[in-house]
Amino acid sequence: MTQAPAHLALTLPAAFHIIAPVMYMSLIGDIHAIKGKKGARAEFDFTEAFEPLFLGGEKIVFPEPARVHVLVVNTGKSMASHFHLEVKVTQRCSRCLREFTAPLVLEFAEEYREIDSVEEFAAAPQLTQEGVEFFPFVEDHIDFGEAVRQNLILSIPMKAVCNPSCRGLCPVCGANLNDGDCGCDHLLPDPRLAPLREWVQRCGRSRN
Ligand SMILES: [Zn+2]
Ligand SMILES: [Zn+2]
Repeated sequence: MTQAPAHLALTLPAAFHIIAPVMYMSLIGDIHAIKGKKGARAEFDFTEAFEPLFLGGEKIVFPEPARVHVLVVNTGKSMASHFHLEVKVTQRCSRCLREFTAPLVLEFAEEYREIDSVEEFAAAPQLTQEGVEFFPFVEDHIDFGEAVRQNLILSIPMKAVCNPSCRGLCPVCGANLNDGDCGCDHLLPDPRLAPLREWVQRCGRSRN
């Protein structure tokens, strides 16, 4: 039985263990032209349909293909990569429970370093060297997919709201208050305030 070396297992970001089974994507860029040329840059554009994913029990859907632009600069030590991602996200509003779609634009940077073996790459999508976290690549190709996936998942709000002024659901009848007033008395007495109410009533009585 073979076991993954402990240092590889330990350098996986914590979130990876939770989200690994969902949403795998592959965005391959050929960086042959800038290898060995310090200061050289390459640009890549991808249009990619993202699979749905599940966050906190909620299904997140990407109704249109995402657009990903990557600028790669050979720093001599690594391939410094700047990402621009545009995608539409459909998820459930945490107040009114209605699905809504909103655009998400992300800018982030990651570092890629060449490693020798494909086995090492397969064991861990993200490695650490001299305290620097980086993504590995082998030979002439960088797969930008894992970095996009991780940054995307971290950027999706867990408690999304369809609109900052969303009025939510009526606590009495459950109607969506964005559709108009349901006619219920929304000022349900707060049980924590019962002693205060009684005191006010007592005062009122004693004054009469
Ligand atoms: Zn809402
Ligand atoms: Zn109501």
